Amino acid sequence: MGSMHTMLEDIPGGIDRLAAFYAERARGQVGLIVTGCIAPNLEGRALPMGHAMDNEAEAEKHRVVTKAVHDEGGKICMQILHVGRYGYSPDNVSSSETKAPISPFPSRALTTDEVEKTIADYVQSARMAQHAHYDGVEIMGSEGYLINQFIVTKVNRREDKWGGDYESRIQFPLEIIRRTREAVGPNFIIIYRLSMIDLVKGGSTWEEVVHLAKEVEKAGATIINSGIGWHESRVPTIGTVVPKGGFAWVTKRLMGVVNIPLIATNRINMPDVAEQVLADGCADMVSMARPFLADPEIVQKAIENRTEEINTCIACNQACLDHTFSMQVCSCIVNPRACHETELNYTEAQVKKKVAIVGAGPAGLEAAVGSAKRGHEVHLYEASHRIGGQFNMAKEIPGKEEYGQTIRYYSAMLSKHNVNVHLNTKASVDSLTSNGFDDIILATGVTPRKVQFDGADHAKVMTYAEVLQDKKEVGKSVAIIGSGGIGFDVAEYLAHDMNQDSVSLDVKDYMKEWGVDMEYNTGGSLAENGASPLPSPREIYLLKRSKGKHGKNLGKTTGWIHRSSLAMKKVNMLSEVSYQKVDDQGLHIKVGEEEKLLEVDHVIVCAGQEPLNELHAGLFAKGQSVHLIGGAHIAKELDAKKAIKEAMELVIKL
Ligand code: NAP
Ligand code: SF4
Repeated sequence: MGSMHTMLEDIPGGIDRLAAFYAERARGQVGLIVTGCIAPNLEGRALPMGHAMDNEAEAEKHRVVTKAVHDEGGKICMQILHVGRYGYSPDNVSSSETKAPISPFPSRALTTDEVEKTIADYVQSARMAQHAHYDGVEIMGSEGYLINQFIVTKVNRREDKWGGDYESRIQFPLEIIRRTREAVGPNFIIIYRLSMIDLVKGGSTWEEVVHLAKEVEKAGATIINSGIGWHESRVPTIGTVVPKGGFAWVTKRLMGVVNIPLIATNRINMPDVAEQVLADGCADMVSMARPFLADPEIVQKAIENRTEEINTCIACNQACLDHTFSMQVCSCIVNPRACHETELNYTEAQVKKKVAIVGAGPAGLEAAVGSAKRGHEVHLYEASHRIGGQFNMAKEIPGKEEYGQTIRYYSAMLSKHNVNVHLNTKASVDSLTSNGFDDIILATGVTPRKVQFDGADHAKVMTYAEVLQDKKEVGKSVAIIGSGGIGFDVAEYLAHDMNQDSVSLDVKDYMKEWGVDMEYNTGGSLAENGASPLPSPREIYLLKRSKGKHGKNLGKTTGWIHRSSLAMKKVNMLSEVSYQKVDDQGLHIKVGEEEKLLEVDHVIVCAGQEPLNELHAGLFAKGQSVHLIGGAHIAKELDAKKAIKEAMELVIKL
């Protein structure tokens, strides 16, 4: 299980929750866990509120974690990470005086003495990890953090012995490994996370990567893990757009170069993907991180041939990385229990009830499965012919096909827990009141918001649901009204040729699209001629009334991917638009004071949603115990994260 910073490391009382989190994964048969990042000293922390593993008292606090994992038969390594210039602090340090494009704070250069001290701090941190009873450490040498900042001339311009030629620059990580090995003895695991592809201009060449790997082995590492891309790279490396196992080819290049095991990482989210990576000879081991947030029992379920029951990570980052990067405790959109194992639990209900759930979108599905797990008799009513709700539209978006996996998971859970599913059944106040339900949960979702201007009912105008769900034909030029998450999704959908058999890119096409040179002809492996995206088959305008950049409310760690993707497809993004009318000519707008006619074939309305909750008042009036969740409750800024969590919290108390 790969490293993920959960923020439990940094909050009061978090260590006991962390122990419960890791114990559950160890119980689920994970072979080896690597913790979230722990700094070797105070300057190395990502945030001023973070902790450093630098003394015995701190180490002893961690024993609750190591004991919990060992009690379950697991093994756990502590990741040591010094963020260098990526820190969010005015005290940032790096190899040279510099400023990272992704931190607001500049860094000062470490003095020669301070470099020595920093190496000593890494070693002390590893010794303290041993004192805390960890089975080993992972030394984080990738993703653009301090070690990378020493290795690459793009940052390291030092004139002392820690700068200069490549051999001198790599002495920083090599000394850390050598001295750590000396300090911890031969049997303590040392994983070195080696940046195998920097994906930044001026990054390491392939020859340098190979040389470093050999030296890392000589210095005493037990295992080499793959680091893919610096955080400041503009190539998505873990987002949902990345093909599954999409960077295993990088690790494969290094196979046979060293005699210690290599680990492949990134977008390996299901057992079959992991098996394929191994079968293709890409690596000796695989590491999955986020998939263990989505489902702590993946390995156990794979062993028992229950893959249908795996709750798959859909690579959205919405509740994990987006949380961590905004200083909230990490969790998972499809599994709100992740990092809340001590708080959110479905226990057997004292009083068994008959429960109706109306609507089989994400909120209704979680409510149904959760209620059934608690032992209630559950009836799930869905007006359409299928379960999944809004996820059925999301899975149509190129790069978001994984949302279909969540529907598959819930489908397996409904039958495993004997939920009575009534498809093509529109529940009414009468039908619900005449069936003796103790509780009725309305998860009836949302309906697309209508817009009010002349011609809003013109034949050119359609809703996003008509495009994504009803698959209405869309012309060669199109204007999209509203640039929230759905506006972006619809633009992405229309910027692809949907007549192709598959709109998902294979690995080679993906690398070409985002400008990665698989031949590794340049340092950092970026293609000399940049990205080469497939052109959009349509002219697309993405419009909004408000000021500022498009997609500013999209996910913190994924918004840039959506913006870059649409920019590559030459989508025209206009702000401060007022909509005048639609007629046979197209969409008439004003941008500021300037009048414009967009001569488009179609206008797609993506202007948010209104709740669908008309059953509520009737049921309430009849004295029923009725609950509203998900979009039916509050449509504004609704997302699946909120919907699924709301369902879980309600059902726990039912
Ligand atoms: P949304 O985020 O509320 O965006 C709709 C946009 O339409 C508004 O930002 C508004 O922008 C515009 N609008 C609202 N009322 C309008 C009106 N009467 N006339 C014209 N324009 C109007 O809703 P959404 O895009 O449907 O997304 C729904 C939820 O799903 C959101 O929580 C979203 O975060 C989530 N989601 C996220 C993603 C993602 O992160 N990739 C993808 C899909 C959905 P202006 O006022 O600027 O015009
Ligand atoms: Fe995966 Fe999304 Fe869950 Fe993160 S929030 S673990 S990306 S499904």
